[in-house]
Amino acid sequence: MLIIKEFMLYLYITHFSTHLYLNMVTAELTLQEALKEYFGFDKFKGEQEEIIKSLMSGRDTFVIMPTGGGKSLCYQLPAMLTEGTAIIVSPLIALMKNQVDSIRNFGADDAVAHVLNSSLNKGEIMQVKEDILASKTKMLFVAPESLNKQENIDFFKRIKISFVAVDEAHCISEWGHDFRPEYRRIKEMVQHIDANIPVMALTATATPKVQLDIQKNLGMTDAKLFKSSFNRPNLYYEVRPKVDVAKEIIRFIRQHEGKSGIVYCLSRKKVEEIAETLVVNGIKARGYHAGMDAATRVGNQDAFLMEDVDVIVATIAFGMGIDKPDVRFVIHHDMPKSLEGYYQETGRAGRDGGEGKCIAFYSYKDIEKLEKFMTGKPIAEQEIGRLLLMETVSFAEHQFAEESICYIILENFMRKIIAHVVIIVLIQKKKLKERKS
Ligand code: ADP
Ligand code: MG
Repeated sequence: MLIIKEFMLYLYITHFSTHLYLNMVTAELTLQEALKEYFGFDKFKGEQEEIIKSLMSGRDTFVIMPTGGGKSLCYQLPAMLTEGTAIIVSPLIALMKNQVDSIRNFGADDAVAHVLNSSLNKGEIMQVKEDILASKTKMLFVAPESLNKQENIDFFKRIKISFVAVDEAHCISEWGHDFRPEYRRIKEMVQHIDANIPVMALTATATPKVQLDIQKNLGMTDAKLFKSSFNRPNLYYEVRPKVDVAKEIIRFIRQHEGKSGIVYCLSRKKVEEIAETLVVNGIKARGYHAGMDAATRVGNQDAFLMEDVDVIVATIAFGMGIDKPDVRFVIHHDMPKSLEGYYQETGRAGRDGGEGKCIAFYSYKDIEKLEKFMTGKPIAEQEIGRLLLMETVSFAEHQFAEESICYIILENFMRKIIAHVVIIVLIQKKKLKERKS
């Protein structure tokens, strides 16, 4: 009896595992081949393959991967391999354009990827819908506002949607560096279209608070989570006191002649001023900010991407999702608003794995300026903004403290810490009050 049982077990195991193995091999071959065929890559980066399998098995999938980790491929490849059209929600028109261009560059029919946003005219919208209905379109990049429109929802209900991917998903959270209120309505829209569509969220955010917000808001607390390491050993961080900053920047860029870099400034005016100063000093530079007309802005961005210029001087309007692998330095002329934002902006350096230098110029005055910007905003937003700013301050001052550059700054640091504690106490008190009432 025992022998029979064992034999049965043996049969079961061999049969089952062979079956499983065969399944895995065919699946792997297909994915691997598809990777080569559609994107020309030989192997998957990091956890891409497992992520793709998760989504293709119909599970909600949450991808947290640093900038440059290769998140786009996690939806681009499954979109090519599954029936129907994938909807990819993306916050910026420039970002969508960048992606669609790069997909089309891989030699596929232009109809394979489209955008649907406010930049299209009626005729163009009709063409997009025609291609989708003809099953030619595998990826449709939409702005959250377009997802919101009733006519689009009606259209999406008529077609086969393979999945919905929410790129730059941190835009959902007020604690992120790039909050977009429209992002909070995505889930509702998806439910209107079809509650069973698998959803993928992707972000490079490193804070657990933002991660939790995303999962809650998209109703994907059961999602399979893939979180990669955020350690980028090729990035070198330095905070310098803000003295003679233009001269310092010019000197730094000259030491890195011919290399690509980004200089971030807080205001549009500063962007124009610094870009001009660099040009006058013989550096191939252009500016980029949201106040420029679209043609100039796109022209300057393309000039940077195509390496006609080495340096782009920009406000934070530039760079989200922009794919230039060989950016060798990211300079912050002014302090960033949050550490999370700083991490994102500097994350644009060294995406190819090569060296990336990140220099931030710090002065206490910048922090005061940033605080001033916040007044006039709703109180809750101000509170969040201040706390995020505190984190940046303590990061910067910690760097100084380590190199014992300046005791005065340390003193300011103590003042800030005290302010930080006071704010936390105030928030707690407010919460207690709300709970009581
Ligand atoms: P993220 O959105 O995570 O910031 P991207 O999707 O823009 O990153 O990808 C970053 C870079 O990595 C791009 O240049 C992309 O072409 C490249 N890449 C992605 N997957 C692979 C892969 N499997 N092999 C080689 N390069 C890859
Ligand atoms: Mg991306």
